[in-house]
Amino acid sequence: MAGSEQNGGKSGGEGLSSEGKQALRALPAIHLILEQLAAIREGEHIAPSVLANAAREALENARSRILAGDATEHCLARLSDEALAQARRNSRPFHQRVINATGIVLHTNLGRAPLAQVAIDAALNVARYGNLEFDLVSGKRGKRLGGVGPLLAQLLGAQAGTAVNNCAGATVLVLRALCGGREVIVSRGQLVEIGGSFRLPEIFKVAGVKLVEVGATNISRIEDYERAITTETAALLRVHTANYRVMGHTESPGAAPLAKLARAHGLWFIDDVGSGALQTAGKVGFETEPDPRAGLSAGAHITLMSGDKLLGGPQAGLVAGDLDLIHKLEKDPLFRALRLDKMTLAALEATLRLHLDPERAWKEIPALAMLGTPVDDLERRARIWASLIEGSQGLQDVLVLAEKSPVGGGSLPGQDLPTWVVALRALKQSDDQLSASLRVQQPPIISRVQDGRVLLDPRTVQGTEEAEMLDGVKKALAGH
Ligand SMILES: *Cc1c(COP(=O)(O)O)cnc(C)c1O
Repeated sequence: MAGSEQNGGKSGGEGLSSEGKQALRALPAIHLILEQLAAIREGEHIAPSVLANAAREALENARSRILAGDATEHCLARLSDEALAQARRNSRPFHQRVINATGIVLHTNLGRAPLAQVAIDAALNVARYGNLEFDLVSGKRGKRLGGVGPLLAQLLGAQAGTAVNNCAGATVLVLRALCGGREVIVSRGQLVEIGGSFRLPEIFKVAGVKLVEVGATNISRIEDYERAITTETAALLRVHTANYRVMGHTESPGAAPLAKLARAHGLWFIDDVGSGALQTAGKVGFETEPDPRAGLSAGAHITLMSGDKLLGGPQAGLVAGDLDLIHKLEKDPLFRALRLDKMTLAALEATLRLHLDPERAWKEIPALAMLGTPVDDLERRARIWASLIEGSQGLQDVLVLAEKSPVGGGSLPGQDLPTWVVALRALKQSDDQLSASLRVQQPPIISRVQDGRVLLDPRTVQGTEEAEMLDGVKKALAGH
C-alpha cells in the first residue's frame, strides 16, 4: 500500500520501480533546501520556523509524488521554489485591508463601519503608551471611561454613559447587573436574532434572567406588560427589531407608556435601540430608525446601542442612562471581562466628538458620508469607472446600471438605497471566477455577483482607493 510505504519515510518505496527508488534517493537533504531559501529570501522577513515547515512540506510532497509514480525531476531548485512560495503564503497576514466595492456600507463580514480619519489617527496615537487609566493632573490612577462616558452622556442627554465590547455584551451586562435572577418582560415580536449569534432568549440565559414574553408576534399592548408584572419582575425591555420588519397590522407600545408603567411599579425600563442613529434617525431613507435619545427623554432608565452601525465608529456596545445604574454596571465583574481596549476607546472618543457637530459628522464619518452620497454623484463616478475599464484586456463588456445598495449590519431592513453600479463580464472567466480574481488582488477587491455579472458600487469605495481598485480590476480581467 502506498500509505504504509509513505509511513516508512525516507527509506520507503519498496515495490517502487528502480527509477522511483533512484528518485527517492536523489531527493535533496532538508538543510540544502534551507540554505537555498536563506539565499533567495534575503530581505524578506519570513520566520525561520515558517521556512523550515515549508521546506519539510515541499520534501514530503515530492516524496508522495514519487511514490505515486511521478518520474519528473524533484531537484533542489524546484523544491526550493515550492518551499518559498508556500512560506510566502504562510507568512501573509490573515487580516488585510480590502476594498469594499459591494456598496454595502455596514458589511458585517468586512468589519462594519470604516473609521473616520481622526478616529484612525486617535487609535494609532495611543497604540504605544497612552493615559488609558491615568489622570494627568493628579498623577494618580484615572478613569478608563473618562473620555467616552461624559461624551456619551452629553450626546444622548443622559446623566452618565459607559461602553463595553459590543451591544450584545452590553445587553448581557445590563440584564445581569440590574436584573440578575429576576424576570424581565419583552414583547414576543421583539425576540430578535441579529447577526446569527445574538439571539435574545440565549442572551437572557447567559445573563441569568428569566424571559417573560408578552403579546403576539405582531401585536403587544401596554396591558399585556401590566398583566405580566409579578413580584419577581425587575424590568421592561424594548428591543428595536433592527434587521427585519413585521408588515401590515402591527402594534407595540412606545417608550413613554412603557416608562410610565415601569416607574409606577418600581421597575427599570431598558431601551435597546441597536443602531446608534444619532444623525440618521427620522431622515429621508432612515425613517424607521429610532433616535437613541428618544427613549431616554421619554423616561427610559438605560439605553443601549452598537458603536459600529449607524454611529459609524469602532465595534462597541454603548450604554447611557441614570448615574447610579451606570455605576452599578461598571462595578459588575462582567464589566471587567467586557471592557474596551485603549485603541478602541480612543477611536470611539474621536467618533463621538465628530457627532457633537452634525455637519462634521456627515462629512467625516465615512459610513454617514457613504449613506448620504447623492445618487447623481454615484452615477457620475460609475460612468467614469466604466469609461476607464472600457477596452481592458479580457473584458467582454461593461454596463452602467441603476441598482440598490443594502445598508447591511442589520440596519434599515427593506430600505435599500438607490445607487449606480458598473456591471462587468469577462471574456474567459465566469462571474464567480472574475470575483475570485478580484479577491486575490492587492488589496483584495470585494464585489457583488448578480445575474451573471460582477457589480462594483462606488458608494463604498473611497476616493483614495479608486486608482488602486481600477488597477486591480484591469489585472483581474486580464487574468493576472
Ligand atoms: C445589532 C444589534 C445588537 C447587537 O449589537 P452588536 O454590537 O453587534 O453586538 C443588539 N440589539 C440590537 C437591537 C441590534 O440592532
